Amino acid sequence: MTQTTGQTAPTGITILGATGSIGASTLDVIARHSDAFRVVALTANRNVERLLEHCRRFRPAYAVMADSPSAAALRERLRDESIATEVLEGVDGLATVAALPEADCVMAAIVGGAGLLPTLEAARCGKRVLLANKEALVMSGAIFMEEVKRSGAVLLPVDSEHNAIFQCMPAGFSAGYEPSGVRRVLLTASGGPFRTLSLEELDGVTPEQACAHPNWDMGRKISVDSATMMNKGLEVIEACWLFGLPPERIQVVLHPQSVIHSMVEYSDGSVLAQLGNPDMRTPIAHALGWPERIESGVSPLDLFAVARLDFEPPDMVRFPCLALAYSAWQAGGAAPAVLNAANETAVQAFLDGQLAFRAIPEVIEGTLSACDTAAADSLEAVLDADRRARDHAGRIVGVLAGSGVS
Ligand code: NAD
Ligand code: MG
Repeated sequence: MTQTTGQTAPTGITILGATGSIGASTLDVIARHSDAFRVVALTANRNVERLLEHCRRFRPAYAVMADSPSAAALRERLRDESIATEVLEGVDGLATVAALPEADCVMAAIVGGAGLLPTLEAARCGKRVLLANKEALVMSGAIFMEEVKRSGAVLLPVDSEHNAIFQCMPAGFSAGYEPSGVRRVLLTASGGPFRTLSLEELDGVTPEQACAHPNWDMGRKISVDSATMMNKGLEVIEACWLFGLPPERIQVVLHPQSVIHSMVEYSDGSVLAQLGNPDMRTPIAHALGWPERIESGVSPLDLFAVARLDFEPPDMVRFPCLALAYSAWQAGGAAPAVLNAANETAVQAFLDGQLAFRAIPEVIEGTLSACDTAAADSLEAVLDADRRARDHAGRIVGVLAGSGVS
């Protein structure tokens, strides 16, 4: 399906979130294999200029913008340049391009809960789903995994740690971790830009400092999540769903060099690791090409330049978001959806300069303890919990901002 020999029909691909960091890396890999992939649809929130550039270069049949004014602006620009891409809009447009018969494969790279519905639609339609949007799985893991099973969709993790685990797992691991001889997963974390700051120093950090990740170049929301380590919390939940593991089988390991992307420990004492330069084009190329290997454009790992690899246990006092994620998973039901919604609200408030960095976990904790987290057995229940949690978290942000605590 993804051979670069030109002997088979190219794989049609929809990229949800094409104007983001993962979207750009995906298009970079695809451009290296233009005989093997055909871009069918590209989507963006409101960045008309960026999506127009991608349409010029990749000539998709469809483009989707989140709202009508942006869609109208893109339509006009495409018409001026005689580019025949059809422009759709809103959540219906996203669902349409996730379900297109000519899209064999869907890259799910919208950030946050906004990615849930189109990602779920791709799973429902039995696509090959390349999953970067971890928030979708955190919000609705049971529903999502059930749809994958029912439709026969092929779910391939793009998050670098989960892609590494996938590469280190034995072929039959879907039968369960115990029969496969898997004892534990070692989920690595860089610790973000604030790993060595004192708690007092953490008080004054700015969005620019939080977004300056030492190893990875990512979107702003995931960069803040890396700085609070909520990203690792979301990834523990993501790994539980993807690999059928209980959280006590997942050990978070701080590894500041970000060279080992995660490990799998077996009952005979073997530990398999996947290493590489910290560049998302490797897991993206792995998922695009799977089960074959394709060129990614990533330079070879120079172990002599890396020279050493360090490991530390995570500090739950410095990173309360990690503990909050574990407790949300343990609480079950809608708790992970509430955790995710409160986190998105708090992170946006921090990026907007309304909330202090260390108030992010306060908002999440307050929302988790106030919101009903009992049921998440239907999509409606998940979306309702998400809405209520965003409202509640917004009120806490308002109180903290008003009291000067922010
Ligand atoms: P980003 O902010 O760079 O890009 C996000 C994309 O989503 C953009 O194309 C944007 O237009 C689109 N988008 C945002 N809000 C939208 C909305 N309401 N409706 C429609 N589209 C919307 O983010 P990113 O860093 O590329 O991350 C994307 C996803 O991949 C996230 O879920 C993140 O956790 C995950 N991820 C990213 C990385 C990375 O290295 N960047 C690594 C692992 C996982
Ligand atoms: Mg990751």
